[in-house]
Formats: sequence, structure tokens, C-alpha cells
Amino acid sequence: MGALTETRDRKTIFRHTKIIATLGPATDSDEVMEKLIDVGIDLVRLNFSHSTYEDNAWRIKNLRRLSKEKHHEVGVIGDLQGAKIRIGAFRDGQIELNTGESFCIDTNLSLEDGDQTAVGVTYENLARDVNTGDTLLVDDGRIVLEVTEVSQGRIYSEVIMGGELVSSKGVNRKGGGLAAAALTDKDRQDIRDAVKLDIDYLAVSFPCSAEDIRLARELFVEAGGDGGIIAKIERTEALDTIDQILEECDAIMIGRGDLGVEIGDAEVPGLQKLLIDRAHAKNCTAITATQMMESMTYSPIPTRAEVSDVANAVLDGTDAVMLSGETAIGKYPVEAVKAMHRTCMASERRVHNTVSDYRQDMQCGRVDEAIAMSAMYAANHLGVAAIAALTESGSTVLWMSRINSAIPIYALTRHEKTLRRVTLYKGVYPAPMETVSRSHAEVNKDAIDVLLRCRVVYENDLVIITKGDLIGVDGGTNALKIVRVGHLIEPE
Ligand code: PGA
Ligand code: MN
Repeated sequence: MGALTETRDRKTIFRHTKIIATLGPATDSDEVMEKLIDVGIDLVRLNFSHSTYEDNAWRIKNLRRLSKEKHHEVGVIGDLQGAKIRIGAFRDGQIELNTGESFCIDTNLSLEDGDQTAVGVTYENLARDVNTGDTLLVDDGRIVLEVTEVSQGRIYSEVIMGGELVSSKGVNRKGGGLAAAALTDKDRQDIRDAVKLDIDYLAVSFPCSAEDIRLARELFVEAGGDGGIIAKIERTEALDTIDQILEECDAIMIGRGDLGVEIGDAEVPGLQKLLIDRAHAKNCTAITATQMMESMTYSPIPTRAEVSDVANAVLDGTDAVMLSGETAIGKYPVEAVKAMHRTCMASERRVHNTVSDYRQDMQCGRVDEAIAMSAMYAANHLGVAAIAALTESGSTVLWMSRINSAIPIYALTRHEKTLRRVTLYKGVYPAPMETVSRSHAEVNKDAIDVLLRCRVVYENDLVIITKGDLIGVDGGTNALKIVRVGHLIEPE
């Protein structure tokens, strides 16, 4: 055991946890975007709830131009609005509800006609799904209504917790169970648009089941999409069917905002840990989202509680942490990313996970999976400086990154889409490299050269290279080679 103030070693100079920044008006200048890339954002999120196709087309074009200039790959997540149930508008824009008053959510009322006594709602079957005695949470639980009677499409309630209520706020039922269809007509159109935007991940909001994820993927693929699918876990039903959902998706996003409203805020931290573990066990990646640096929407520094929240997500093993309004509409988008970056770095330094018993008792299904597992075992127990994985689709580095390790994994590939897709995997760094029509000796040398250029390895360091006999073939990884930098033995 060393002193607690120990300085970091070379292995921890690179941030392993990935940072996702939601784009919005606050990031729409080149100046801000360049700074975000310089601090090292790994992915951006386009929130289809709050942006048009034109906004997003412009944003992606700009991002890709700047990320090319700066030689830093940034992945793109398109986030569908989903069937969020919202109240309609108030004629006066807002009302004030007092505790003890009655208020009606009326599915017959037009969406513009709300007043002090009643408001419309975007989900026409709400009255069918709600019963007397249910608790409805409006505006993320700021307003609490207890249902006293349901009749002819009208939900009458008593205000349990009052306050100011503005138009179009979300409605949830405590305990979940409001079954609006997962994909709306707008979502279906947004999926087609997302494909035109060439996004890397499609995030599905409010899925209840594996079937919702299957349908989203089907529509995405039908439209020509080939990115990953992210299931946002933000409904009680998704918790009940999580194992099946994990079979169908590539990643989960722990949507702590809506999830907290449905199951209660206190349940979220414990569930976050379980969900991250469960995702990793199923070879999926996990994103921790919502309110991570919330106060930085208006303040240049985070609260200690927010720093602890980000740090704990890192300690839980999350692949990525996400910023929402902090970057999209906040006053301090760059400072928020910087705060997240330094918090991740400091926490990662405290967890030197160089031994992992993860999946020790499991059989490997494929040869490339066995190579990936063996590489991580060797890396963690031998003490190598880096892993250079030649990959086509990125599956080798995905398996590798599911194992705890402080050792950086370089995904060397000639495919732009793979470079962008692996931006979500913790501890994995994308690096472009031409692999076809090269001999094995040349490939080994090129791989080491990439690592030297990235300053991740130096003369005499040990490096693990994984690749296939047939270079450039999907799923073909069948070899693991341990080399010392500067001592390549040639020819192979
Ligand atoms: P949202 O989802 O940011 O799209 O609302 C995440 C959440 O609910 O936490
Ligand atoms: Mn949500």
C-alpha cells in the first residue's frame, strides 16, 4: 500500500470512462464544439424530442468536420422521443395548483384548452389505464395527484402536492404500467431521418419489452441503418424484462430521470449498480444518464454531490457518463465536460483493477471471444502497456472491454463506422489503420507505430497484439502475440 496521495502511473493517463455530450443551442458554435472535442468528448447525443432534422443535419456535419480536423473520433447517438405521456397546454401557459384542490386530466379535451380545472393529455387511452387510488406524478413528480374517480375519459383527482404547473409536462404513474406504444409515428419518421444522418447508435425511449427493441432495430435496418441499438431503461416494465431486453440491444442507458419518477428516487442508485453489472454480463455497454452535473446548467462548478455521483458511476463500472441539459442548453457546457473529465480521471486512478475474475467460470462461444478473454488475462497478469486489437466489426474489443482492466485497448481498424462505434466502449480507443494487403510483419510494425504515435507505449514496453490469420475478415481473430516494443522479431 502506498501513500494515498500517490501520483498516477502511465496506464491511467487515458480516461477509460466515456463522456457523452447532448448537443443543443449551447454547443452550436465552432468555438464551443472545438473545446468539447479538445477536452475529449467521445460521443454526442442528438435529442429528437427537442430538435429538427435540419438542426441535426447541420450539427452532425459540423461535428464530423471538426473531429476530422482534430483527429478525434466522436460517435453519434440519435435519441428518439418515444411515447412520453404529456399533459396538453394551458390557455394561459401555466396554472397554480394548491394542495387539497381537485383537478381533472381529460382525454376528451383538446390539447390547447387547459385551464385551472382541467387539462388535455397526449395519450388518448390514459383513462382506460388509470384506476381510482392511483398516484399520478406530473412534471417529474413535482406535482402529485391522487385519482379519486375515472369516468367517461376523465380522470378526476385530488392535488396531494401542489405548485406551479406549465404546459406540456410529463405524466407518469407511480409504479409504472401506463402502456402507450413504444414507437410513435414521429419516432418512425425519426428513425428514417436518423439513418440519413448516418448515426452510430439509435436510443429507444420508454421500451417495455424486448419486442419494442426488436421492432426498433427492424425499422432501423429496413431504412438502411447499421448502428447499435440503445435501450433506455426508464420504465418499471423494462426492469421486469431486462434480461430479454439485454439479448436484443447493444447498450442500455439508465434514464434516471423518468426511472426515478416511476420507481422512486431512492431506488435508483442501487438499481444503477445492478443494471451495469447485468449489462456487462450480457456483453452490452452501459450509459449512466441524467442530472449528473445538473447544477452546472447555471453554475461554473459542480456540487460535491454531483462529483460523487459521477465518481460512483465510474466505480460502478459504467462505460459512459452522459450530460443532457448541462451541455445542450446550459451556460457552462465546456466547464461541465471538464468537470466530468477530471472526476472520471481521479476515480479511475483509485480503482486499479488489474485482476478480474469476471467470466472465469464461463465457456467461450467463439474462437475470437476466447482470444479476447485470453488477451485480457495475459494483460492483467503480465503487466503490458497496451493491447492492440486489429478488428473489423469491433466485437473483439467489446469482449475485452467487459473485463476490468486499467490497460488501454486500441481498436485498430480501417472501418470508419467501427472507429465510431467503439467510442462507447470503456477503455477502448479507436485508431485508424490500413490492414489489408499488408503482411503480418508489416501489420505488427504498423500497430506498434500507431501506439507509439499515440504515446501510449515506449521502447521496451510489452504489448499484446490480437489479429486473424486472414487479415480483414470479420470475426477472424485467432491469434494473440506478445511483443516488446523495439524488439519485433521478423519475419513472422
Ligand atoms: P431523456 O431520458 O433525457 O430523454 O428524458 C433520460 C431520462 O429519463 O433520464
Ligand atoms: Mn427519459
